[in-house]
Amino acid sequence: ATPISIMVASGRAAQNGVLFRDAAAIESLRAIDTLVVDKTGTLTEGKPVLKAVVSLGEMPRPALLGMAAALERLSEHPLARAIVHGAEAEGIAVPQAAQFRTVTGAGVEGEVDGHAVTLGNHRLLSNACVPLDDEVMARADAMRGEGATVMFLTVDGALEGLIAVADRIKPSTPQALSDLRAQGLRIVMLTGDNLAAAGAVASALDIDEVHADVSPAEKAEVIQRLQAQGHRVAMAGDGINDAPALAVANVGIAMGGGTDIAMESAQVTLVKGELSAIVRALTLSRATVRNIR
Ligand code: ADP
Ligand code: MG
Repeated sequence: ATPISIMVASGRAAQNGVLFRDAAAIESLRAIDTLVVDKTGTLTEGKPVLKAVVSLGEMPRPALLGMAAALERLSEHPLARAIVHGAEAEGIAVPQAAQFRTVTGAGVEGEVDGHAVTLGNHRLLSNACVPLDDEVMARADAMRGEGATVMFLTVDGALEGLIAVADRIKPSTPQALSDLRAQGLRIVMLTGDNLAAAGAVASALDIDEVHADVSPAEKAEVIQRLQAQGHRVAMAGDGINDAPALAVANVGIAMGGGTDIAMESAQVTLVKGELSAIVRALTLSRATVRNIR
């Protein structure tokens, strides 16, 4: 690769909101045949809104939302913002939380008003050995079928509530995916969210390979498996939960506006956080290498 053509390409890419870490990143991007994408914050806005708070026991709904918001005020996850904003919109007094802890890709936990509180997916529930009965599962599935992400709230080890949050697909996503397919890329979706919520997004976007309910480590494993099959894989993601996958991919692509750790783990950053920028970056990287050879 001649330094000048690489410089020109990276300058042009930067004008289009694509920052390459180095020349090698441009060359690796050119060779990819598979694009793996995270769902929340990458395909979708990552600005979900609160849809429902369901009390499963004696505790009133506002108290549940207050406890959830107390924990989520300390989290950076997009789901957390939806819950905090939802509590604010309802004028609920949010208590202070202590002993706060994030379980990456699963949820949050801590102490609120002297109670042990957890909020997250079913993996977090099973870690804490909290059982989930069929009726609650059916209620959760009904909300998921509409594309919502459902979180389970436990208080002192008992399942007390369900919180549903829904996210919108970014307006630029459908066109970007169809352009990338037209360039010959296979699209694979990865998410820590459950299959029903993931399926609603995947079918809206015509993505037929979906891995749902995957932990951050499993995201990286899916990519390694694709590589073992001979694919050259780019991974696009925005979160801490995507960092291991971004690091093992042939090209890691971070969404600007996502977490710093994602950007540090990636070789490419899309400044505006729109996948449409990859289309341009791919065209440029291919044109560059054609010039050089
Ligand atoms: P994605 O892969 O779609 O970006 P994550 O891996 O970050 O999603 O999260 C997976 C799941 O873990 C979420 O769908 C949610 O159920 C749960 N979760 C993660 N972080 C939080 C949080 N701060 N509060 C509640 N639930 C969370
Ligand atoms: Mg994400």
